[in-house]
Amino acid sequence: MANLKGKTAIITGASSGIGQSIAEHLAQEGANVVLAARRKERLEELAKSIQNETSVQTKVIETDVTNQKDMENLVKETKETFSSVDILVNNAGVMLLSFLKNDKVEEWEKMVDVNVKGVLFGIHSVLPTMLEQDTGHVINVSSVAGHEVFPTSSVYSATKYAVRALSMGMEKELSKTGVRVTNISPGAVSTELPEHITDEEVISMFEDRKGRVTLEADDIARSVVYAVTQPEYVNVNEVMVRPLQKK
Ligand code: NDP
Repeated sequence: MANLKGKTAIITGASSGIGQSIAEHLAQEGANVVLAARRKERLEELAKSIQNETSVQTKVIETDVTNQKDMENLVKETKETFSSVDILVNNAGVMLLSFLKNDKVEEWEKMVDVNVKGVLFGIHSVLPTMLEQDTGHVINVSSVAGHEVFPTSSVYSATKYAVRALSMGMEKELSKTGVRVTNISPGAVSTELPEHITDEEVISMFEDRKGRVTLEADDIARSVVYAVTQPEYVNVNEVMVRPLQKK
């Protein structure tokens, strides 16, 4: 397995859930981590705890992934501090599940902005650097909902299918360069993600589903570590992880 010592990883959405766990796991493997999200205090707490537990360097950069300038600045500051960008984890996302008939058009727009434009701005900001370095690894966090559509997930799924399409396109376009791409498709993971849902019908459906087995954020972080620690010529393009329902 390749060592991450001295490598630099940017993780968007590192202030909670899967992104936080990915940052912790990459740091444990020796990567310097750049923590990006809007909630700066949570990023600073995470940076402190990583510094207590590892010897890697951390950097906190308050970032709104929907803002192109923020994303460009995220990569620029990372390069200025660490001189290379080896890994970008496009993880930030929102899942505002709703029925189309309930017409939550502002939430549709928000999901497109964060889940699709955020990932695009990440690619835009990092790709020139990775191509110039002729090495790098982009991890895009899609979802099982990027492989199938559920009632209430039409728009969320549309954004996650888009993320997967971008991953697939990058794999084809970049296969003769040193830039690798991995699309991660988690099933249900226990995080803050569903807490932002406002559609009352969906909220009561979630109440009914209480007791179903979910994954932990760590389960997804380990698959990221697997992908980024393979030998340089191994391009792990897709990882899908679901929980068993065995109790
Ligand atoms: P959380 O709600 O715990 O984390 C979401 C993260 O995204 C937060 O750190 C949040 O940070 C960040 N974020 C949201 N909007 C923005 C923004 N505009 N700019 C920057 N950061 C933003 O959820 P998860 O950890 O579960 O979600 C992480 C990813 O995993 C998402 O892409 C999600 O779609 C995907 N996923 C999750 C699954 C699950 O069951 N949990 C299943 C499949 C995929 P802040 O608010 O501080 O900006």
